[in-house]
Amino acid sequence: MQRLSSYVLGAWHTGGDRTATLYDPTTDEAVAACSTDGIDFAAVVRHGREVGGPALRAMTFAERGALLKALSAAIHEHREELIEIGCKSGGNTRGDAKFDIDGATGTLAAYAHFSKSLGDKRYIADGEQVQLGRTKRFVGAHVRVPRQGVAVHVNAFNFPAWGMMEKLACAILAGVPVIEKPGTPTAWLAWRVAQITVDSGLLPEGAFQFLCGSVGDLLDHLGPQDGLAFTGSAATGAKLKGHPGLVARNVRVNLEADSLNAAVLAPDVDASCETYALFLQNLVTDITQKTGQKCTAVRRIFVPRDRVDEVRDDLVAALGRVKVGDPRDGESRMGPLASKAQFEDVRNGIARFSEFADVACGGAEPLFDKGCFLAPTLLVAKDARAELFHAEEVFGPVSTILPYGGGVEEAVELVGLGRGSLVSSIYTNDADWAEAYVLGAGCWHGRVWIGSDRMAEQALAPGMVLPAMVHGGPGRAGGGEELGELRGLEFYTQRVALQGFSGLLEGKFGG
Ligand code: NAP
Repeated sequence: MQRLSSYVLGAWHTGGDRTATLYDPTTDEAVAACSTDGIDFAAVVRHGREVGGPALRAMTFAERGALLKALSAAIHEHREELIEIGCKSGGNTRGDAKFDIDGATGTLAAYAHFSKSLGDKRYIADGEQVQLGRTKRFVGAHVRVPRQGVAVHVNAFNFPAWGMMEKLACAILAGVPVIEKPGTPTAWLAWRVAQITVDSGLLPEGAFQFLCGSVGDLLDHLGPQDGLAFTGSAATGAKLKGHPGLVARNVRVNLEADSLNAAVLAPDVDASCETYALFLQNLVTDITQKTGQKCTAVRRIFVPRDRVDEVRDDLVAALGRVKVGDPRDGESRMGPLASKAQFEDVRNGIARFSEFADVACGGAEPLFDKGCFLAPTLLVAKDARAELFHAEEVFGPVSTILPYGGGVEEAVELVGLGRGSLVSSIYTNDADWAEAYVLGAGCWHGRVWIGSDRMAEQALAPGMVLPAMVHGGPGRAGGGEELGELRGLEFYTQRVALQGFSGLLEGKFGG
């Protein structure tokens, strides 16, 4: 069995006897164990602040960007090995594992590219100078400077590589040291990426620390210059946001929580439109990719009432063609849920939903005698307004068709019942319908993806999180925001208004 370790205070630390065990969800075999027992978390925070922070802040954006580019290449060199670990420890098919690992290296490379616009500076100019005095001698300007704390990144189990590296890219480029904590069930992959990161020698000492297992009392040691960026369930997010020490010391907190993402088919799109084929294809991807364990996956499918049977039948046929099985056999397109706990959660969720919906395909019964396998599951709600569909996330290969009348106002109202989501996708060739939807439902989303015949051929799927676009969402999605090109650095920097002589401000802090 693989023993995973933590990288803290410049050394690897294997912890104590109280371990968490990781399982291969295909075979139920125990494959790895980890523990953070014995780690002095206060010292870990100090090490980041006092050793990693100054070293990073001494570098320019261009230098930190070059480092991200080199790190991307170093991880990419191990791509095949990492794909294998993803299959074994996360139940990923080869395609799923690539999605995670290429997402990690791609985001690092993207931030290396974004850094070029910041050049050899150590601050970010934020807008133009404004005249404050009688003449242009006395002006004001805004700049952003790195915060002088650590960034604690607590990640979900579903993207062990990408989740860690997308947060790291923004923090390191901003000049802030990181303490990374992956979700335990799939931490093997994150641990191997952490090893590659450390072995590369690219990041200055103290800029990267990694905790494999519980965070212990780490959060008690965070202060006003530190930040906690969390990705995971709404329940854990709420607990962390309410942590009394974080509240008392005004520690910055960014939450990326769960989300009842909606896809809406507008009434103008019929089966002859390319947009309809795109709608079906994206839904099958969302339900089956990563076995539905994707924060952006569609959970609610709004379909005009008179089209429900047609959409159900088309989706059932397409999902029936997805082979479910051992992700290492090279043929399966959907693997198991990532862990036993996840498997049982999803089974219970399907059973609860089935009281309010008809099961069109799949269901809560295990597919095989061993492993965490379920079939792709499509439900059709008896009542689109039943609270459950808008309140509970079943984090697996499960989605529900919710009939609606076809009017944009009704679609906006029903989608809003989810109280805040990461992404909504709409499928329409009617620009007025799309405009009304965005104006009505935009405030409940971090992103609205608009599918139409004009872009169908080039479209990247709505479930894809892209470094150039913001990721996050209001309300139950956590209220956070990440990525979005240089917007992603805001969390790690302090915006400061400068007022003084225009020549000095232009010379030292100009754009
Ligand atoms: P989770 O159970 O909430 O755990 C998330 C992370 O929090 C894990 O690293 C977990 O560590 C840690 N954690 C749990 N309790 C903690 C505590 N008291 N103090 C500090 N850390 C704690 O979520 P998950 O099951 O890993 O992930 C699935 C959820 O993540 C889904 O709901 C999904 O929608 C959401 N998600 C959201 C996004 C997004 O961008 N919005 C992206 C991916 C996933 P352990 O694993 O060691 O318990």
